[in-house]
Amino acid sequence: MKIGILDIQGSVTEHLEMLNKIKNVEAVLVKKSEDLKEVKGLIIPGGESTTIGKLLRRFGLRDEIIKRVKKGMAVWGTCAGAILLAKKIVGKENADSLNLMDIVVERNAYGRQLDSFETQVEFDCGIGGFGYKCPAIFIRAPKILKAEKSVEVLAKYKDEIIAAREKNMLATTFHPELTEDEKVHKYFVEMCRK
Ligand code: GLN
Repeated sequence: MKIGILDIQGSVTEHLEMLNKIKNVEAVLVKKSEDLKEVKGLIIPGGESTTIGKLLRRFGLRDEIIKRVKKGMAVWGTCAGAILLAKKIVGKENADSLNLMDIVVERNAYGRQLDSFETQVEFDCGIGGFGYKCPAIFIRAPKILKAEKSVEVLAKYKDEIIAAREKNMLATTFHPELTEDEKVHKYFVEMCRK
């Protein structure tokens, strides 16, 4: 099964290395809309959401991603990627965003002191209600301030939502690709198989 990684900016290589460790998965770098043809899912890496958003439009990828996600292609946004998936970004016009997930996010929402940090979180894999512990690295991370009823909360840190899923869409405000832990990637691979 092919899974794409948006190759515009940010933690692309780290996601690639992660997917390469998972059996029966072929990672494909996505730079133009044709690259999306055979992929069952797409990862939008962390980086700078405004830059990625602008380039998505310039490379003609924005509309194609929206169309495919609406038809069922799985998508996972990590950090900046999560910001791009959100229907609402606090204090900002959403012109370049993908406007797909019913969540409200605030960019750079952890104060200076917590600009970047690492912790352990409980990630609810949803199926059967069991969870697993995984390391979570936050880098100038956004907060998911609100999730509509259609959105399932998969992980929280200090009472705030840090991972959420709405049907075929997954958003995490942290960076599993920067750890050695493959669980969240495996979770996304399962989403892609469905
Ligand atoms: N602060 C970045 C933004 O607002 C996100 C940071 C990240 O992806 N690690 O786009």
